[in-house]
Amino acid sequence: MHPKSSNTEVASGLIYRRAFGFDADSLINTQPWGLLDANTAPAFERLRKRAAVSGFDLRIASGFRSYQRQWHLFNGKARCLRPVTDEHGNVLQREHFTDEQWLHAILRFSALPGTSRHHWGTDLDVYDGAAVAADYQLALAPAEYAPDGPFGPLTEWLSERIAADDAEGFFRPYGRDLGGVAPELWHISYRPSTQHLRAALTPELLAELWRGQMPRALRQSDTSKDIDEIPGPLALLDKVVPQLPALLARYVVA
Ligand SMILES: [Zn+2]
Repeated sequence: MHPKSSNTEVASGLIYRRAFGFDADSLINTQPWGLLDANTAPAFERLRKRAAVSGFDLRIASGFRSYQRQWHLFNGKARCLRPVTDEHGNVLQREHFTDEQWLHAILRFSALPGTSRHHWGTDLDVYDGAAVAADYQLALAPAEYAPDGPFGPLTEWLSERIAADDAEGFFRPYGRDLGGVAPELWHISYRPSTQHLRAALTPELLAELWRGQMPRALRQSDTSKDIDEIPGPLALLDKVVPQLPALLARYVVA
């Protein structure tokens, strides 16, 4: 469809597709962790080996997530088809919130589709399999990662390595509460693979995606495939778009 596209344009198109969660094809399928960025996978294995020496079974609870899956999560919450909870896990009642407040309640725990760091295959939610029974139901809740929680020792071990820049390239983008995303001590990110992806997230491309259109920069040579990739427009779109640059700064950490 774009016969004059240069190799550079094709390559930059791939970066955009990766950045917004449309490119699972360039990730590698690891066992048992699923799809991961090609450089993140070996770095995680190195970190996992070092954790094992200290007695931890470092495991991935959640790695790659597509745009489509994040769209279903966000729109489901916006339209009250899925529960929206507070920090304590209490289910919030929609009628007590304005649209604007509801948006921020969702964003505290769920990213806007296209802006999740889990789109990249570089970001992982981790836990210690050696600290819990095999049938343990992981909640990814702050209490589990607190000093007296089952994953307190792993959290401390990771904190020490990250503080010393000795965690095989991983860091915590949501380690502290910056007023946007709630602190997520379980979320680690392979920094060397993320910077060019974060830079590809522009308000213009996001706004186009959220209106339900595939931006030209993300289209594939076989455009018939693109139609299936966009599930539809974003819920609460008129609340999101006017404050998009501020939302990006507050909820997607560089
Ligand atoms: Zn996460």
